[in-house]
Amino acid sequence: MKPFTYERAKTPAAAAAAVARNPGAKFIAGGTNLLDLMKLQIEAPQYLVDVQDLKLDRIERTGDGLRIGALVTNTALASDPIVRRDYGVLSRAIVAGASGQLRNKATTAGNLLQRTRCPYFYDTNQACNKRKPGSGCAAIGGYSRQLGVIGTSDACIATYPGDMAVAMRVLDATIETVRSDGTTRDIPIADFHVLPAATPHIETVLAPGELITAVTLPRPIGGTHVYRKVRDRASYAFALVSVAAVINKDGSGRVAVGGVAPMPWRVAAAEAQLQRGAKTVTGSLLAGARPRPDNAFKITLVERALGAVLADAKIGDAA
Ligand SMILES: Cc1cc2nc3c(=O)[nH]c(=O)nc-3n(C[C@H](O)[C@H](O)[C@H](O)COP(=O)(O)OP(=O)(O)OC[C@H]3O[C@@H](n4cnc5c(N)ncnc54)[C@H](O)[C@@H]3O)c2cc1C
Ligand code: SF4
Repeated sequence: MKPFTYERAKTPAAAAAAVARNPGAKFIAGGTNLLDLMKLQIEAPQYLVDVQDLKLDRIERTGDGLRIGALVTNTALASDPIVRRDYGVLSRAIVAGASGQLRNKATTAGNLLQRTRCPYFYDTNQACNKRKPGSGCAAIGGYSRQLGVIGTSDACIATYPGDMAVAMRVLDATIETVRSDGTTRDIPIADFHVLPAATPHIETVLAPGELITAVTLPRPIGGTHVYRKVRDRASYAFALVSVAAVINKDGSGRVAVGGVAPMPWRVAAAEAQLQRGAKTVTGSLLAGARPRPDNAFKITLVERALGAVLADAKIGDAA
């Protein structure tokens, strides 16, 4: 690990200003992703601004909805009684991720911003446009079993690896931030992660120094909440494919998919066809997919996972 300067910020605005002021600075929350990347010298921030003292660790009701502080841990969020009752898909997605110990440290904002698990991104001997812009992409032409089938580009085919954000996408969450000049903004989660195009190192719309302060959820939408994750081991593994869904009694509903794209993948036209079954929905959801020989199986896997989700929802089993 390279040497770095460390400071604990006292207010959200001060944290944002400190990161904006120091080139190469980063926020650190639970550290479960960032520290691993620093140990491997994939990221080498010269300045770390610890946000743990910012008192952003509360879950509060807001009118009809819920406001989740950026520092709320994954464990606290998944076990919150309101989340479990009204936003079950979120609770189920979180407990499908990582391990109990990691979830105790991992925070809401840090989880949203975790970086890809592309194996070539983690190997500093390999070319990677995300790690080193302009260096090429070893995954294209390499082994691509874990990588993306849609939303990818000729510069990067990595997937967004998280579970929580897939559920937040289906719930239409909004991300609240404060910028280095003290101004705030609300970003719908649909607009938060960006596709790689020619600049895969840019993963979100956040500006340098922009701090996430909270995530808000709109009023509960009812329905049966299901999260199904397909992975190589029963636990402690990232999704090959995951499906977050909220299904109504008449078969209509919402669905987002993880493990296939550089962001949680939700398509309105596909969702409108939910009552026509998994095959039709998958065809529409993944229209324009560019799979590779190693990962073409993900398309069938999405269809089967979605079929299982729809069956679960019919019998009221929330998987
Ligand atoms: C072995 C292992 C298995 C895992 N398995 C899964 C899994 O199956 N599913 C899953 O979803 N996740 C999994 N994870 C990832 C884990 O959930 C993330 O590491 C964790 O959620 C990151 O949160 P953190 O608070 O530790 O973030 P940190 O590591 O502290 O930060 C991550 C990034 O977020 C930025 N950041 C943090 N807080 C803020 C803020 N408030 N505003 C702006 N930027 C901020 C940091 O600068 C950094 O870039 C796994 C991790 C490990 C190590
Ligand atoms: S797929 Fe993306 S993250 Fe993986 S090596 Fe290529 S550029 Fe890097």
